[in-house]
Amino acid sequence: MFDRQFNPTRFTCVRKRKGLTKSQLAWLIGVELRTVSAYEAGTSVPRDDVFERIVSKTGFPADFFSGDDLEEPKADAASFRAMSKMTSRQRDMALSQGAIANHLCKYIEERFNLPKADIPDLSHEPTPEAAAETLRRHWGIGVLPINNMIHLLESKGVRVFSLAIEAREVDAFSNWKAETPMAFLNTYKTSEHSRYDAAHELGHLGMHGESVWGVKEVEKQAHKFAAEVIHAQTAMACFHCGAAHEGQRPRRDAARGVHNRDEGDVRARMATH
Ligand SMILES: [Zn+2]
Repeated sequence: MFDRQFNPTRFTCVRKRKGLTKSQLAWLIGVELRTVSAYEAGTSVPRDDVFERIVSKTGFPADFFSGDDLEEPKADAASFRAMSKMTSRQRDMALSQGAIANHLCKYIEERFNLPKADIPDLSHEPTPEAAAETLRRHWGIGVLPINNMIHLLESKGVRVFSLAIEAREVDAFSNWKAETPMAFLNTYKTSEHSRYDAAHELGHLGMHGESVWGVKEVEKQAHKFAAEVIHAQTAMACFHCGAAHEGQRPRRDAARGVHNRDEGDVRARMATH
């Protein structure tokens, strides 16, 4: 006799995470489609033999199916960049990973002290470039290179998770979960791409909060922000000559190395005029 808890939200999450439709899962575990629907609606629970098949066919541990409800990020609250390129199956896979990440995040936060969110409100900045400059100033990094964007985000309270989905169509996405910024990066892409995605999502988190995602203009702004925050192509004044080198980055090979940022000889500062 079945005597364990069976949480329908977890069952649904597992199906989506495996990229299965209800009919595909029904076929896999040897039941009717309507039976899977009933499990997901919470109007029926699987018999022991069916439950064993659910565990063995999905590869999720039996304990996963009991416990608190899992909270999936809403599709319209997540900053998916290219909804049109994604299939609903791929979107569900990404969102179900978000649900698992939310749960994992809660578990970790109850046991460890993680950095509090430190992302200034950039929604009133006149341009994405100005927003990037404000952020760099707020974090005290001026025009210094950002060697590890993901570590930087984590140190500023962003919970960064990987999206293990082997599909180029699935971009990174982010959302605010109450006071906590969450970012999900597709590790199927190159590290340079992930670094750019992290900066792009940072732009959404700072500039757009929980406003509507997917709007072309909003995406454009996040792209401009990412380029600017990574390259810091801001007007800079040379520490030595005082001249403003508009739109230039400190040069690695400048005469006498006065602009060599990589060796810590940073002689440029943000222009304040
Ligand atoms: Zn975006």
